[in-house]
Amino acid sequence: MDAPTLIAESTPYLAWLADWEAGLPSKSLPDVVVDPARTAVISVDVINGFCHAGPLASDRVKAIIAPITRLLTAAYALGVRDFVLTQDTHDPAAVEFGSYPPHCVRGTAESEAVPEFKALPFYGLMQRFAKNSISSTIGTGFAGWLEAHPALDTFIVVGDCTDLCTYQLAMSLRLRANAGQRRDRVILPVECVDTYDTPLSIALELGIQPHPAALVHRVFLHNLASNGVEVIGRLSD
Ligand SMILES: [Zn+2]
Repeated sequence: MDAPTLIAESTPYLAWLADWEAGLPSKSLPDVVVDPARTAVISVDVINGFCHAGPLASDRVKAIIAPITRLLTAAYALGVRDFVLTQDTHDPAAVEFGSYPPHCVRGTAESEAVPEFKALPFYGLMQRFAKNSISSTIGTGFAGWLEAHPALDTFIVVGDCTDLCTYQLAMSLRLRANAGQRRDRVILPVECVDTYDTPLSIALELGIQPHPAALVHRVFLHNLASNGVEVIGRLSD
């Protein structure tokens, strides 16, 4: 398919996609947290290396720290006590570094939770799982933790990046529920999710892969919604 045809065939969808995202409903957190004992908030990669320092730090991603911190605080106030942080903590010779520049190596500040999380009075309650790929479940303790908490049936997913680790995390929770005939809810507030931006012009200049955030973010959100993840605008206190 040539570029003009691709653009022509995609334009109506893109217009629809912009309206879809703009029209996403918001919900109230107390309405979603029917039972705090059955609710978990799972945050992926809200760590220094994607927010504050290092080659993959992004201003777009940094901007989700504040709404996530508000959400964590509001959930705690409602009685939620199951909080999980899955975090890039790479082997210094990580295979993944064939696809991305070295980042978030274990033992470095990049692989640590952001200071905004560490300042929360309940930070010590949060279960942290190190990961060495964009999956939160493969080769981590997270799947075992889920099996050890079978009563959890409402998962609020936040973090970065929309199309990478957040996508993998939300899909793994949705697919686990589907495969196990579980009626779990997997809820993703867009206000607390984002991805990094590498415009084509910059990518060509630097010889790296383009990653147009505005497009990729929305296409992956729509894919998640199509698969049964509850993609909503925001979760108000
Ligand atoms: Zn990584």
